[in-house]
Amino acid sequence: MKIDILTLFPESFAPFKESIISRAQKAGTIEINIINIRDFSRDKHKKCDDYPFGGGAGMLMSVQPIFDAVKSVLKEGSKVVFPTPVGKLYNNKTAQKLAEFSHLIFICGHYEGIDERLVELFDAEEISIGDYVLTGGEIPTMAIVDSLLRFVPGVLKEGSLNEESFSNGLLEYPQYTRPQIFEGLEVPQVLISGNHAEIAKWRKAASLEKTKKNRPDLLKGEKIED
Ligand code: SAM
Repeated sequence: MKIDILTLFPESFAPFKESIISRAQKAGTIEINIINIRDFSRDKHKKCDDYPFGGGAGMLMSVQPIFDAVKSVLKEGSKVVFPTPVGKLYNNKTAQKLAEFSHLIFICGHYEGIDERLVELFDAEEISIGDYVLTGGEIPTMAIVDSLLRFVPGVLKEGSLNEESFSNGLLEYPQYTRPQIFEGLEVPQVLISGNHAEIAKWRKAASLEKTKKNRPDLLKGEKIED
């Protein structure tokens, strides 16, 4: 899987030089390129913003540098993604779908966003990471890329995804590590019993309880698998 990220702030992507994502790049499982949109500006001062038609408080990103930057990496089968508050709400299913593409191109918006014609021209998938507004598309892009890469074969250890939150429609059960008693709170006895059937039963019930408490919306109309 190859991912090209177009941004005015390439240094924001330092977290991709760490941990699992960094290891997957070094192993050649994935390739991530950070592309500076400003390098494509034909303006003599490398300007990348402009006034929106119709007026308004803020500026918009200039259309030409983004268009040329996308064109420089676009090939047959590429999927263009534009993280934006007006997009469809992102979730685990979308992450899995995106992980099936061999090439993704992300456009990081800034200021008031991008010219709508770019969405049309590249048939960009508009994705929102939540009902709030961030100052730029770098954090949403990082969240989307990080979460979808977990579904690319070879990025995580085999089996790591099996009991994760959302994998079976529920949130994950609570987990504990040593010591057995911490600040007067004890680890549930069943988890140190060594009885795997009982542990599985406890985890299923605890997972359901956590989901009911924090995300009852996930339970609506859902059939819970055993
Ligand atoms: N004027 C836009 C609006 O009201 O919908 C907000 C623009 S925001 C200040 C700048 C950029 O941040 C957006 O173009 C987008 O790339 C990114 N962004 C902000 N919030 C986001 C969200 N919830 N999901 C995805 N991207 C977001």
